[in-house]
Formats: sequence, structure tokens, C-alpha cells
Amino acid sequence: MKSDIKLFENGKRLDGRKPDELRNIKIETGVLHRAEGSCYLEWGGNKVIVAVYGPREAIPRHTQNPLRAIVNARYNMAAFSVDDRKRPGPDRRSREISKVISEALGHAIFLERFPRASIDVNIEVLEAEAGTRCAGLTAAGVALVDAGIPMRDIPVACAAGKIEGQVVLDLGKEEDNFGSADLPIAISPRTGEILLLQMDGHMTGDEFNTALDMAIKGCHTVSEIQKKAITEKYQKTEGD
Ligand code: UDP
Repeated sequence: MKSDIKLFENGKRLDGRKPDELRNIKIETGVLHRAEGSCYLEWGGNKVIVAVYGPREAIPRHTQNPLRAIVNARYNMAAFSVDDRKRPGPDRRSREISKVISEALGHAIFLERFPRASIDVNIEVLEAEAGTRCAGLTAAGVALVDAGIPMRDIPVACAAGKIEGQVVLDLGKEEDNFGSADLPIAISPRTGEILLLQMDGHMTGDEFNTALDMAIKGCHTVSEIQKKAITEKYQKTEGD
């Protein structure tokens, strides 16, 4: 979509960020007492809460896998999370995001340890400002740790994209609306495996490679923030 807004001027973006700068991220874990694991995350103007339940017997029974657990991530955007009220309930977009997040998380979890079980990951977007799938997946990684679910690694996500011919990290709202491409990815930071990669818009092969490298670097930065939030919570619990 074309706009009159200048997204990139004098080396700076609309909100003053440099091309490779993330929005501010704040993560807190163990925020819901009825959930087995939980996380509250703010990423720029995104506010997301995640509650994890399980492993528990998968219901209905025909969904059970006798060899491994299933991951049920359910991404939902609250009606009040965006300027134009969002129609409540699942839609194509939320089903797609739930599916790709379930698959990404499933690669990190030792699913074979919990045959016939389900691990339920509820992702509620309270405020949305672009990049909610990355915010949701990153918060889910922390909530899974809080729930004590054994994982190979803590999955983490971040996007890069293109605005006015410039490859940039972590698109904000106007950049997402009026920019020319968005490339959200999730990785396993320890092994470097890519767990999710989606893209909309257009980039050249070189721009794609630059954006991918930038998003991977962004993931590693976000991963450090995840680990800090987890360490802080458990140091506090030990000291109590
Ligand atoms: N959005 C919206 N209404 C909707 C869906 C999305 O206003 O029904 C906004 C919201 O701010 C979201 C952004 O559009 O974060 C980009 O959505 P996209 O589908 O690219 O997913 P995201 O970037 O959030 O992962």
C-alpha cells in the first residue's frame, strides 16, 4: 500500500529507531496463578499474555497421538486490541497463526515424553501494533519454561522487513501497513534451526538474505531478554 507518510528519512525511522533497532521489550513470567506457566510481554505497543496448561490428557480422545504429545497453541486477538474493533472469535488469520506457532513450539518441546497428552498454549493479544505473532511465540517460549515443560531450547521470534527500499528490523505499525515486505521468523537460538519463516511483500534475493540475517540477530537479542526474565523470576522465588 502506498502512503504519503515518510517511513525512512535521514537514516532514521518514523519512531526514531535505527534500521537494526528493536522496539522496547519487557517480559514478566509467572503472572497467572491458575495456569501452569504464564508470561506477560510488551513489545513496543504490543501487549500479550500467555497461559500454558499441561501436559494433560488430550481431549477429545481422537486427537491423541499414542507416540507423542500434541501442541495446541491458540492465538486470539481481543476485540479491543486494535483501533477498529476486531470481530471476536477465530478467523482465518488467527487459525493460521495458531497453526504455525503450534508447529514451531512442537519442534522445541520433547513431545515424545508425553504420549496421548496435549500441551495447551493460550496466547491472548490485548493490544496489537504489528508483530503480534512474534510477540506471542516469544511469550509462549517463556510460559512453557515457567510450566516446566522439557524443551531442547527456548524458541524465540523476531521479524525484519523492508520499508522504502531499506531493510529494517522489527516493523512497527505504520511500517507494517505501508512498507513493502515483512519477514517474521522463529528460531531455536542454541542450534540456529529455523522453526518458522513467513513472508509477505516483495524483496530481492539479496534483500531477503540481509533481512534474514537481521531477523536472526534480532532473535538472539530477544532470547537474552527471555532468559533474563526467567532468571529474575526464579532468583526472586528462591530468595522469598
Ligand atoms: N491488525 C488489525 N486487525 C486485524 C488483524 C491485524 O488491526 O484484524 C493489525 C495489528 O496491529 C497487527 C498488524 O495488523 O499486529 C499486522 O498483522 P499481521 O497479520 O501482519 O500479523 P502480526 O504482524 O501481528 O504478526
